[in-house]
Amino acid sequence: MEYKFSTASKTCMLCKHDFNELEFFMSALTSIKKQSDDENQTNNDDNKGFYTSEFYRLDLCLDCWDKQIKDRYFSYWQMQRAPKPKLPALKDLEFLWQLFYQAKSIIEDQEIEHPEDKLKEAEQFAYISALGLMRMKQLKHAAYENDDDGEYLIFTQTGTKNRVKVKDPKIDAPTLAKLEEKMEKLCEERFTE
Ligand SMILES: [Zn+2]
Repeated sequence: MEYKFSTASKTCMLCKHDFNELEFFMSALTSIKKQSDDENQTNNDDNKGFYTSEFYRLDLCLDCWDKQIKDRYFSYWQMQRAPKPKLPALKDLEFLWQLFYQAKSIIEDQEIEHPEDKLKEAEQFAYISALGLMRMKQLKHAAYENDDDGEYLIFTQTGTKNRVKVKDPKIDAPTLAKLEEKMEKLCEERFTE
């Protein structure tokens, strides 16, 4: 699975109402798993296994969101129509939430066996985006946990009872610099599609 980012829609995708500046709305991700076509995939090392997964993102006004069946969505979060379209990756809430949930989905996906390096990168992205969200006061650090696999940070999501658990991947400085560069690129790509 590739990370896929897009800027938020300027209108509600259901009722087509234009979001006002600073209006709150909901973004929801659904993850759709597809059986891949073996014959076409054999030469492509990135697509090992039988399944690929893809994300579809929906932006809905709060009225439309109230009428949705929430279980249908892999994850969702409240967004605010930003006055400024471009921000650095680590200050762009919309980008950070997307990165965080996409990385978590790779880590927690039981049905797909992701290559080791993909999984490692996902753990690093989940960690960096969680720290970014903490700096932006969206997540609050609540506790540490240890098990045989390593150290974990537990966060609570501001204004909710949601708890998220993120592994500390022990990133060294050169790796961090590379990851941040990659994040800037992913963040920027949303505006150039
Ligand atoms: Zn609507």
